[in-house]
Amino acid sequence: MVIFCEVIAAIVLFIYSSFFEWFVHRYFMHTPRFPLKDAFRGHTLIHHQQYRDQSFSVQPGEPMTNVMLRWYAFPAMILGHMSIFALFQWATGLPIFWGASLGCTLYFTGYEYTHYLMHVPKGHFVERFGWYQFLLNHHRLHHKYMLRNLNVFVPIADICFGTLITAEGWRSRAKTPS
Ligand SMILES: [Zn+2]
Ligand SMILES: [Zn+2]
Repeated sequence: MVIFCEVIAAIVLFIYSSFFEWFVHRYFMHTPRFPLKDAFRGHTLIHHQQYRDQSFSVQPGEPMTNVMLRWYAFPAMILGHMSIFALFQWATGLPIFWGASLGCTLYFTGYEYTHYLMHVPKGHFVERFGWYQFLLNHHRLHHKYMLRNLNVFVPIADICFGTLITAEGWRSRAKTPS
């Protein structure tokens, strides 16, 4: 029963993290909104301006700047979620804490790692995988059409919210901002 609950919690939280990523990316990293205006500045005004079209990836030997999240963002997301899981487990008695923590930690780590490789190619073996190449193209299109492809790691929320695009040449329509 304990293992079952922890495994289900890990799967649920991994999927939830795709929606969390989409929501934070759309409504805080691409919208100047209190209390995370610094996230908008760092992402839309700096990261997106620095890594566009021809300069999407740094060349070998070039310094890497403005790719990773702010130093406090990753621990804040993990610890913030863990405190909610602890509260949930305490209130319901369901053993979900470690599974839920693992699910969202895996997702956020996957986000940071793949996003880093996209802009700073390192020749890691994962860069040869088909799914990585798909994600690379997916994120390349996001840098071109900012309010599309808002997931970086697993585009479940992009599919559910209709923000997924897979090809160059997509044109924004009047009511769907790009
Ligand atoms: Zn990027
Ligand atoms: Zn973005």
